Amino acid sequence: MAYQSFNPATGKLVKSFEEITDKEFEQKIAAATACYEVWRHKTYAERAVVVAKAAAIMKSRVDEFARPMTIEMGKRISEARGEVEFSSQILSYYAKHAEKFLAPVKLHPKIGEAHMESSPIGVIFGVEPWNFPYYQLARVAGPHLMAGNTLMVKHASCVPQCAIAFEKLWIEAGAPAGLYTNLLISHEQSDGIIDDPRIKGVALTGSVAAGRSLAARAGKNLKVSSMELGGSDAFIVLDDADLEHTVKWAVWGRMYNTGQTCCAAKRFIVVDSIADRFLEKFRAALAALQPGDPMDEKTALGPLSTEDALVALLAQVDGAVAHGAKLLLGGKRISRPGSYMEPTILTDIATTNPAFRQEFFGPVALFFRVNDEDAAIALANDSDFGLGGSVFTKDLARGKRVATRVETGMMFINNISWSDAELPFGGIKDSGYGRELGSMGIQEFVNKKLVRTAHLEAPV
Ligand code: NAP
Repeated sequence: MAYQSFNPATGKLVKSFEEITDKEFEQKIAAATACYEVWRHKTYAERAVVVAKAAAIMKSRVDEFARPMTIEMGKRISEARGEVEFSSQILSYYAKHAEKFLAPVKLHPKIGEAHMESSPIGVIFGVEPWNFPYYQLARVAGPHLMAGNTLMVKHASCVPQCAIAFEKLWIEAGAPAGLYTNLLISHEQSDGIIDDPRIKGVALTGSVAAGRSLAARAGKNLKVSSMELGGSDAFIVLDDADLEHTVKWAVWGRMYNTGQTCCAAKRFIVVDSIADRFLEKFRAALAALQPGDPMDEKTALGPLSTEDALVALLAQVDGAVAHGAKLLLGGKRISRPGSYMEPTILTDIATTNPAFRQEFFGPVALFFRVNDEDAAIALANDSDFGLGGSVFTKDLARGKRVATRVETGMMFINNISWSDAELPFGGIKDSGYGRELGSMGIQEFVNKKLVRTAHLEAPV
C-alpha cells in the first residue's frame, strides 16, 4: 500500500490508503474538465467567494488542520499551527488580488492600440511534497483556482490525511465538483496523467530527480510546467555581522521544520575573522536542542518526516565523513523511539567530497571558513543549486552588493524570512524554474494573449 500515515515520533502506522484505479481517475478528470468549462467563465468575484471561504475555514479551525501534520510528518505543533495560518493567508491574498494581477495590460505600439489579456488554460496537475503539507497546496490552489483553472493534485505518499483534509476543505467551501481533486496515485499513473491531453500544465515542488522526470514528461507533451526543486542555500556571515542576531537566524534557518525546508540555510560560509566565535555559539545552540514529542508545545527538536528520510540522511553524513569531512557535532540517531537525529555540524568538506554538492534535508549544517567577502560569494556560487541564500552584515549597502552577486532566485539580508504571500518564491539552476506566490505566481498557468486593433491596409 503506497499511501501510509506513519507517526515518525513513535514509528507507528496510523492509517493506510489504497491508490485509485485508472477507472476512478477517469471519473475524476472528467469532472475536473467539466468543472473547468464552467469555472473559467465565472467572474473573479464569484471565484473569490469560494477561495476566501476556504481561507476562512482554515483560519477558524487551525488546530484541526495542524494536528494531522504533526502526526503524519512530525512537524512541531507550533510550527504546524503557523503553517495553517499562513496557508489561509495565501488563499485570502489571491482571493483579494487575482483580478488586479490578471487585469489586461495596455501596450503602446507605434500604430493602433494593443493589450495583453490573461485567460485560464484548463486542468493543471500539481505534484507536491510532504514538508509543508498545506502551504505547498495553498501555493498552487490560491493562484491557479483564482485564475480560472481547475486543479488535480498528487500529494506525497506519507501525508495522505493532510491531502484528504485539503480536498474536503474545498467541498466545505462550496467548490463545484472537480474544482480541486486529490489524487492518491502511483508515479506510473502520474506519467499517464501528464500525457493526458486534458491536462494543460504541470506544477511540481519536490526533489531534483522528480523535477527531471516530470519536466521531461511535460516537455515531451509540450506542456507548460513550473519546477520548485531542492536547494543548498548559503548563509554568508561577513566580518562585521552582529553575532547574536546572526546565530539566532542560523539556528532557526537550519532547524526550522527539523531542517526539512527547501530554502533552509544549509551551507554556512563564514569569514575567517569571525568564524571561531560564530562556530562556538552556533554549536552550543544546536547542542542545546532537546528532542521530544512534536505534539508538546515545549519540544525544541522533532523527528524527521519518516524513518527512510532519517536512514538516508545518516548515510549521507557517513558518506561525507568517509570522504574526509569532520564531525564537529552530532551525526547520530537519537536513542529514543521514533526517527530522531542529533543536530549535526560537518566541517572540512573539500570540493571533491560528494557532500559538497549535495542537499542535506534535515538537521545537518555544512560549515565553511573563507578569507573574505569575494571568497564567500565564489563559494556560495559553486553549487548546482540556486534557490535562496542570505548574508549577514551591519553594512546594508554591502549586504545588497553581495546579494546581487549570489546566483540564486532569492536573497535575504540579515534575515531568512523566506516566504510571504506577496513575495515571489523560486530558484534557478537545479533548483528549477518558475515562481510561486506574489503577483508572479499567478502568471505561470495562464494564456497571455495579445490583442491588437489597427486600421492598416494589408501589404501587397
Ligand atoms: P520527492 O521525492 O521529489 O517528492 C515530492 C513529490 O513528488 C511527492 O508527491 C512524490 O510522490 C512525487 N514524486 C517523486 N518522484 C516522482 C515521479 N517520478 N513521478 C511522479 N511523482 C513523483 O521530494 P521529497 O524528497 O519528498 O521532498 C523534498 C524535496 O523537495 C527537497 O529536495 C526539497 O528541497 C524540495 N522542495 C522544494 C521546494 C521549493 O519550493 N523549491 C519546497 C519544498 C521542498 P511520492 O511521495 O509518492 O514519492
